Amino acid sequence: MYDWLIVGAGFAGSVLAERLANERGDKVLLIDRRNHIGGNAYDRFDEAGLLIHQYGPHIFHTNSEAIAEYLSRFTEWRPYEHRVLAHVDGKLVPIPINLDTVNTLYGLELGPEDLEAWFAARAEAVAEIRTSEDVVVSKVGRELYEKFFRGYTRKQWGMDPSELDKSVTARVPTRTNRDDRYFADSFQAMPRHGYTRMFEAMVASPNINVMLQTEYRDIRDIVPHRRTIFTGPIDEFFGYRFGRLPYRSLQFRHVTLNQENHQPVAVVNYPQTEDYTRVTEYKHLTGQEHLKTSLTYEFPAAEGDPYYPIPRPENQELFKRYERLALATPDVWFVGRLATYRYYNMDQVVAQALATFRRISDALPTEADTRTVHAIGTGAAKA
Ligand code: FAD
Ligand code: UDP
Repeated sequence: MYDWLIVGAGFAGSVLAERLANERGDKVLLIDRRNHIGGNAYDRFDEAGLLIHQYGPHIFHTNSEAIAEYLSRFTEWRPYEHRVLAHVDGKLVPIPINLDTVNTLYGLELGPEDLEAWFAARAEAVAEIRTSEDVVVSKVGRELYEKFFRGYTRKQWGMDPSELDKSVTARVPTRTNRDDRYFADSFQAMPRHGYTRMFEAMVASPNINVMLQTEYRDIRDIVPHRRTIFTGPIDEFFGYRFGRLPYRSLQFRHVTLNQENHQPVAVVNYPQTEDYTRVTEYKHLTGQEHLKTSLTYEFPAAEGDPYYPIPRPENQELFKRYERLALATPDVWFVGRLATYRYYNMDQVVAQALATFRRISDALPTEADTRTVHAIGTGAAKA
């Protein structure tokens, strides 16, 4: 009898498997319908021998020392600060928009204070910042919004930024200095030997059995287990009984070029042209030296594997209905980006999984704890 059936071997499922197995000594069956562990963070060596990310670029960043320390038990790190260029008006300029972005695009020589005034003169007054359009036009004005955000967002989400919650474009800041890093977090690095190696170390416990290419519905009534952790789409778990929760999908086109380098940074965004949103060249992330180079083109899609919850009020409402069902379902915990319908980065999913582990530990004493309590109880009775 397994103590836990954990569905999904991404960050949410693997962190919980690791904690439950190693900290409590629980017996875990960790399954995934895919043929690999790691969830969307899975990476692999392609036919040319270049390390690529099967589901698009994954850059680790966090402000939490505790999360960085926890993951450091399973991997060494390669220091890496992410930089992105946007292909705008025929030029490659930094995104997030910064001083160099504006000076390059407009042929200006502004300083940081000039740029503040320049933005202020263009920013539109928005009474209440609600949507992904509001966030940007209220800071930098409509022209830069159109150049950098409108087209990209329409491609990525299949809807206008005015229809999306403000949290989506708010992920990308605006700067008046020359800082061209995509993230400002205190810890930014890549797992030195890749994400998959890190996941392997995480689930390498005699208390964890991993079964791949295994559907939850095919084994849930066959394999005896006390409790379940589900990290797949929450609407799927409940048989879509309130209707489908919208998720955005992507098609990835992986290519290898017979040349050493393709672009100056790891990611180039295409907000104005092309059907794809961005192109990733992995060597910049991995530091790998090779005579060839591998790239991924991302084509957003309505159909396909669910990758992104779509932050809009009506979707949140539908999710809340499923969440109420989840809360009323005994012995099943819902964790991760798909099961809690949150546009979470990897570190946020790790944090959510660790918090869930603490709640489980508070709610369920281990078999060993129970024995100790009995022993103490018996001792006290005798005394
Ligand atoms: P997932 O990784 O999706 O894992 C869930 C697993 O459950 C999947 O492997 C799935 O196959 C399995 N599953 C689902 N249903 C079933 C079932 N019924 N039976 C069996 N198995 C099932 N985050 C960052 O911090 N930095 C980045 O740079 C970054 N870039 C990203 C780029 C892209 C293109 C995408 C899509 C995401 C990116 N993320 C990034 C987010 C990151 O991928 C997620 O935060 C993280 O992987 C979520 O982990 P998870 O365990 O919740 O879900
Ligand atoms: N975005 C944009 N133009 C860009 C970069 C981002 O319009 O050049 C918007 C777009 O809506 C995108 C969101 O900001 O989905 C968040 O960007 P991020 O790079 O965080 O997306 P992710 O890496 O999660 O796909």
